Amino acid sequence: MSTQTFEFQVEARQLLQLMIHSVYSNKDVFLRELVSNASDALDKLRLEKLRDDALDADVSDLHIELDIDKDARTLTVRDNGIGMSYDEVGQLIGTIANSGTAEFLRELRESKDAAGEEGLIGQFGVGFYSGFMVADEVTLVTRRAGEGQGTRWTSRGEGTYTLAAVEDAPQGTSVTLHLKPADPENQLHDYTSPWKIREIIKRYSDFITWPIRMTSGGAGDEGDAAPETLNSMKALWARPRDQVSEDEYHELYKHIGHDWRDPLETIRLQAEGTFEYQALLFLPAHAPHDLFTRDFRRGVQLYVKRVFIMDDCEALLPPYLRFVKGVVDAADLSLNVSREILQQDRHIEMMRRRLTKKVLSTVKDLRAEESDRYATFWREFGTVLKEGLVTDAENRETLLAVASFASTHDDTEPTTLQGYVERMKDGQEDIYYLTGDSRQAIENSPHMEAFRERGIEVLLLTDAVDEVWVDAVGEFDGKKLKSVAKGEFDLDAKGEDGAADEEREKRNEAYAGLLEWMGKHLGEDVKEVRLSSRLTVSPACVVSDAHDLTPALENMYRAMGQEVPRAKRILELNPGHALVKGLNAAYTEHGEGTGLAETAELLYGLAVLAEGGQPKEPARFVKLMAERLERAL
Ligand code: ADP
Repeated sequence: MSTQTFEFQVEARQLLQLMIHSVYSNKDVFLRELVSNASDALDKLRLEKLRDDALDADVSDLHIELDIDKDARTLTVRDNGIGMSYDEVGQLIGTIANSGTAEFLRELRESKDAAGEEGLIGQFGVGFYSGFMVADEVTLVTRRAGEGQGTRWTSRGEGTYTLAAVEDAPQGTSVTLHLKPADPENQLHDYTSPWKIREIIKRYSDFITWPIRMTSGGAGDEGDAAPETLNSMKALWARPRDQVSEDEYHELYKHIGHDWRDPLETIRLQAEGTFEYQALLFLPAHAPHDLFTRDFRRGVQLYVKRVFIMDDCEALLPPYLRFVKGVVDAADLSLNVSREILQQDRHIEMMRRRLTKKVLSTVKDLRAEESDRYATFWREFGTVLKEGLVTDAENRETLLAVASFASTHDDTEPTTLQGYVERMKDGQEDIYYLTGDSRQAIENSPHMEAFRERGIEVLLLTDAVDEVWVDAVGEFDGKKLKSVAKGEFDLDAKGEDGAADEEREKRNEAYAGLLEWMGKHLGEDVKEVRLSSRLTVSPACVVSDAHDLTPALENMYRAMGQEVPRAKRILELNPGHALVKGLNAAYTEHGEGTGLAETAELLYGLAVLAEGGQPKEPARFVKLMAERLERAL
């Protein structure tokens, strides 16, 4: 087969351009990325051979080799791992599969400053492409273990790459970087210097469990220098805590988390006894773009006695902790353990419970610290953690203790539930909240009026999951969680004598006829029309019955394919509003004479609009409204 030329996919080309023009200041990390890929390839081959003994592959000396050629100015990273087939090279190296990448590139274009760019790039494992930060040409030769033919891939990173079949490729992959011309001004970045390579490996890849060997040759050197192993290969989680530096932990995180930035927190756990294991977990500082997509790869790495077993081991942590990265190394599992077995294993179940508690107690400590770190954590992962309020009854108390929410108490700082309870007014029995699409929409909702006037704090909940957890949790510290858009309120009744009740009684009587008539007239859409105690400014609002699903929740269930009946709402009128007063006077005087029916409809439509909904027949609503406005001119 001859050499063929292909075009990079658009996103891949854009990323390559970024690498070539190198917005990332720390170029050394290219080597970490290539070594990381090589290490993964060795893991994969070992596992495949374990599963399929007949696989024609040599696993006797799996390792990574670094070759420096000073004269040719090349650096080669070679592994004898799984390798890639011809098709795989095209798919894996020529395109970018990550769905978040398009979004990433868009953000990158919008980000004006270099620091922003660097931060953004850090969110993406640009991996292999990072070689183009230091090389103006890259050659990759690979042969998939078990296959006869190899593949050569070359590119200058400028829009095209070539593929060719090769006959004599060794098993695994070698990536040769044709380094950019030496910069006499900057000897620090001489990647043909064995000293430099040694330093980079020590710093970024010491924990890699496969040997990383280096041979360096060049003019006058016969190339028979003995290879030296650069990394200690010691698993960080197995080393005494005080002998591992923060930096080393962070480098491990970057390797397994495919993140270029430091984690927010490192968590270590050592379990002794009948089922021994060690865990090294990390809380990332940033949520990945695909955290809420169906195919988000969740879970930590599972090792058995220092041997890598699987990535994304979802049995070790509950789904709402899917952002946690790390390693769990168990002493007493079979090397052949499967995902199915793990899901049912009693020890794994106990492990998951313990790890979950450990992660949550770490979050609790962050919270107690009252630093920016908690604020960062909650901003990035709060929405996911709230899923736990619904699914993990066992840890609900802890989750409620660490959760924080936007509130009318403070425009910027979120509050904990405990904080809310401490600020509750005398006689206030419930914790009030309102859900909606945005803080602004909620704050402007008519449901808030009476609460605002009386200075009663309301939690402002804007995540989809909020609708669900408030229902599931029900109360905090003995106080009910109550939506200000549901049920009836009696904000004034507390601590007063019967006078207020009497007053209300009278008012209800005065409106009884109108309410009943409107209830009938709008009967298709509302189940009741009543007077409101929550409105001060708006003429009307719609509310849900205390036990009905809210419209948002109904929509959510429908989106998930569940049949739910549309619950009729309740229309509440503000007896203090001139429009409502006038309507009542007209009704009392003339009965349902001309025009009143339309006014009732308009009033209902306005109430629906005010909570962000849509009138049932928008065109009819607009027509009626326009006629009214015209008459008022
Ligand atoms: P990432 O490592 O984040 O997936 P890369 O661009 O670095 O992104 O690599 C893309 C894919 O190419 C890898 O997921 C892997 O399947 C394959 N790959 C890269 N390097 C190697 C290698 N040395 N051996 C085998 N496969 C490799």
